[in-house]
Amino acid sequence: MPDIFFKCGWCGKHLVVDEVGVGLEIPCPDCKKIVVIPKIRFAHECPQCNERLILAYTMRGETLECPLVDMKSPNWSVELRT
Ligand SMILES: [Zn+2]
Ligand SMILES: [Zn+2]
Repeated sequence: MPDIFFKCGWCGKHLVVDEVGVGLEIPCPDCKKIVVIPKIRFAHECPQCNERLILAYTMRGETLECPLVDMKSPNWSVELRT
């Protein structure tokens, strides 16, 4: 199951969950408010490691740090212009 990247609608924190969680409500680990794991999403190929990242629609325009290249280059991030 791929992971889904989305953001908390309250505090804007970027969250990652397993795809099986779609539609569920979870507490944001940062602000503790309830967020719904979004159903509408798109794939974005990471230009750094070429992995397909599954992103919630609300992540459009966000800057995301690819977790897969994190170890090699901690400050690298991908801008989502889809
Ligand atoms: Zn939050
Ligand atoms: Zn990547």
